[in-house]
Amino acid sequence: MTSPIQEKMFAQLAERAIFEHAKTYAFDYMDTVANRTVVPTQEAIDRLTVFDEPLPKEPQIGEAMLQMLHEIGSPATVAQTGGRYFGFVNGNAVPTAVAARWLTDIWDQNPALYVISPIVAKLEQVCERWATQLLGLPSETVAGIVSGTSIATMCGLAAGRYALLKKAGWDVNQDGLFGAPPIRVVLSEQSHGTVFKALALLGLGRNRVELVPADDQGRIDVDKMPELDNNTLLILQAGNVNSGAFDDFNRACDLAQQADAWVHIDGAFGLWAAASPNLSHLTSGIEKADSWSTDGHKTLNTPYDCAMILCKDRHALVASMQATGNYIQYSEQRDSMLYTPDMSRRARAVELWATLRFLGEQGLAEMLEGLCAGAQMFEEQLSAAGFRMLNDVVFNQVMIAADTPEDTMAILAAVQNSGECWCGGSQWQGEPVIRISVCSWATTADDVARSVAAFVTARNQVKSA
Ligand SMILES: *Cc1c(COP(=O)(O)O)cnc(C)c1O
Repeated sequence: MTSPIQEKMFAQLAERAIFEHAKTYAFDYMDTVANRTVVPTQEAIDRLTVFDEPLPKEPQIGEAMLQMLHEIGSPATVAQTGGRYFGFVNGNAVPTAVAARWLTDIWDQNPALYVISPIVAKLEQVCERWATQLLGLPSETVAGIVSGTSIATMCGLAAGRYALLKKAGWDVNQDGLFGAPPIRVVLSEQSHGTVFKALALLGLGRNRVELVPADDQGRIDVDKMPELDNNTLLILQAGNVNSGAFDDFNRACDLAQQADAWVHIDGAFGLWAAASPNLSHLTSGIEKADSWSTDGHKTLNTPYDCAMILCKDRHALVASMQATGNYIQYSEQRDSMLYTPDMSRRARAVELWATLRFLGEQGLAEMLEGLCAGAQMFEEQLSAAGFRMLNDVVFNQVMIAADTPEDTMAILAAVQNSGECWCGGSQWQGEPVIRISVCSWATTADDVARSVAAFVTARNQVKSA
């Protein structure tokens, strides 16, 4: 009773040609990515119209599809793994983690429950323990493995919302927010956009917050924080998305602890500073918070999409994430869907485990310190070249500007078009700036020098135009 489509797919598994193609194309991409223009050429982008076809009626040929992806798709990628990509805070991927992910793609596990995948449940537990130790968090901390810090932050704030209201005698998960005692949200005006989004999703509102001014580096001004109390959600930041600055966790968390407030730390890319003895002064005091969100796919260099919600209060997180259904059988083992908003999902713990284990404590510290060293090289060479530095380079982020806002924007556009390197722009204290994020393990001193040269060339072009 095999259907023709079943036969086709069994044949694909038996013949393996599509997998051999995928491997060949992947190796070709790896071999050439360092020499590609960092952004695709206009011609490569124009060719993407090939994909604008109606969905075929008949099944297609797998080999030809992989060829299409490689020939048309690969040139239209952003060469993020090449060493000269400094946009947003986009990490590269540790090779062992990519390889482990390939293998687990064949497994196609669903980590929702222990019974669906004992191996992934085990690796999630291991990652939870390793991350808690590396980051110096309380030993009772639990972790949910999610798609990104956006979701992780939403989970942390959901746990905080539940715990605060529970103290006030209200179960928000059962009874909702309508009619609940009000809770306060205190956060810095420099909080990341995804924090406001999480607040909106949780019914706490983007605007129904007490915004605290930030200092010239983008750190929350602790002296200007309002008085906290036991129904306050305080949100701090490890790594400002522009400047890389870290809030003063010791002072802010001490105030929160005295008031019995809930503290969530958005540490998307900065939290990992805790894993390097030379950088951990930046995260001093984070262990006093209640929940933390952090990405794998930024400074940790796991493949996309991989992140963690870490929470000291297991009950608060689980109460906020738990689903029921007569077919859902929780066990004595780790049932991963207790810690995340989703039920079925990818086995992303595998690449997190592979990244951490491949690097080890030493390799991780070395990689993180390498990102910071790259940022410092940018700082030195760009300021020697006459660019204005706008932040203290404490981590992996560098912000610069030219003499006038117009020049800054024109230089940024010229650098972006050069294909030599790529970085983005932002607004800082009312002016347009160029932000450089050193986030890829593959960036070398040569890559920095070549990128600085692209900046100088771009400025000469702008000046002579
Ligand atoms: C990137 C980032 C986020 C969002 O993380 P995603 O993984 O993209 O969802 C949140 N906060 C900060 C500080 C970030 O840098």
